[in-house]
Amino acid sequence: MFETVIGLEVHIQLNTQTKIFCSCATSFGEAPNTNVCPVCLGLPGALPVLNIEAVKKAMRFGHAVNATIHPKSIFNRKNYFYPDLPKGYQISQFEIPIVESGELFIDFKDGSSKRIGITRAHLEEDAGKNVHDGDRSKVDLNRAGTPLLEIVSEPDMRSVEEAILYLKKLHAIVRYLEISDANMQEGSFRCDVNVSIRPKGDEKLYTRVEIKNMNSFRFIQRALEFEINRQIDAWEDGVYEDEVYQETRLFDVDSGETRSMRGKEDSAEYRYFPDPDLLPVVVSEEMIAEAADIPELPDQKRDRFISEYGIKEYDASVLTASLEMAHYFEAMIAEGAGPKNSVTWLTVELQGRLKNGMTLESSPVDAVTLATLVKRIEDGTVSGKAAKEVLDHLIENPQEEIDAIIEKLGLKQMSDDGAIEAMVDEILHANEDKVAEYKGGKEKLFGFFVGQVMKASKGSANPAKVNEILKKKLS
Ligand code: ADP
Ligand code: MG
Ligand code: ZN
Repeated sequence: MFETVIGLEVHIQLNTQTKIFCSCATSFGEAPNTNVCPVCLGLPGALPVLNIEAVKKAMRFGHAVNATIHPKSIFNRKNYFYPDLPKGYQISQFEIPIVESGELFIDFKDGSSKRIGITRAHLEEDAGKNVHDGDRSKVDLNRAGTPLLEIVSEPDMRSVEEAILYLKKLHAIVRYLEISDANMQEGSFRCDVNVSIRPKGDEKLYTRVEIKNMNSFRFIQRALEFEINRQIDAWEDGVYEDEVYQETRLFDVDSGETRSMRGKEDSAEYRYFPDPDLLPVVVSEEMIAEAADIPELPDQKRDRFISEYGIKEYDASVLTASLEMAHYFEAMIAEGAGPKNSVTWLTVELQGRLKNGMTLESSPVDAVTLATLVKRIEDGTVSGKAAKEVLDHLIENPQEEIDAIIEKLGLKQMSDDGAIEAMVDEILHANEDKVAEYKGGKEKLFGFFVGQVMKASKGSANPAKVNEILKKKLS
């Protein structure tokens, strides 16, 4: 039996207006090489000046994960050659990062949670992008110098599931903090995955492989599953030593396999040294304290949802996994919809109907509208089943009003006591033999009576009312 060991390095792009060492804009999707200047082009003699906003955002993150924030940290040069790195080195923090020794908690379906250590989080600049176009390669330096926070975890995760839960929690935290848009498609949240295996019970760490530059949860999952199997197979075939060595691999989306990219560099090979163009980053106690002013985080929001709305732990985790979802839910509550129904109608019914890349933000049904529908269920205007039809219709025709749709589709529930009572009387009268059997102890027949009344009303009678009136009449 084997155990999986996973440690993650996540790069998030900080959402500052300008780059980390120059005043170029960080905007995404501009014409190539338009957001550039002598500093980020690496022209000789140009000097970097640190953007304090990047430091503040890094410190906010540090507070959010209970980490130590170093009052003094250092920028180093990490030397390597690549066409998207015009200076020939990347400015990054090495021995003394701004943030060290933090933690976050991942939540399992059964309500339990697990602590994952965060080794460090350091500031660095992003490189440009190589764009491959047929037999030519081009370089776009718009991204060069964009501030990154690299968040390194301890090798604390023991399964693919735990790795994904960690990434989702981290994603939620940086979104809540508003320090990054964490848009995975645009590369503002990308991840290097380190993975090894070991015989269960063994304490020591075995050789790890690093899979670079992943930016989708689904691909991370597939890459990990493939890589874990590759390592286990090698072990079982007696070729572990030959086939598993410290290296960097890439995930090939088409084949679903990871393949070797290069041997892993030792940090010594980068010849790190303090950047002589930059002073140490010194932050005052006041600045550190100011950065502690952070909004309610996912775990706190989850706990508040549980105590304030009486919903289940797991539901609360799902709702708070994204800020949009949490806001949507609370907007429904503010509109007067009940918490339990809001959970179901938001996380199951609405989410299940958002197809083709539609998100909550682009949902045709807003929180006020969905809350109105829930209230129509709660006040007995429509049954839950009918409400599903209303929602189907709404998704296609978002401009229509709920009450008009209920009217138009004839979905209004009959809740009028008098009318239901008349139907009940009629059914009981027509089935006097069964009424006698029921009274003689055959209680199963209650369901039969309910069914008959529902049928007589063509499904429009309020089942709760039917039950109530039947009970009264039969007792
Ligand atoms: P480097 O700086 O060379 O990339 P680190 O020691 O900083 O190496 O580790 C990088 C990442 O790899 C960390 O997230 C760490 O938790 C993880 N890691 C280290 N050893 C292992 C291992 N044996 N198995 C899985 N992950 C590991
Ligand atoms: Mg690393
Ligand atoms: Zn610049």
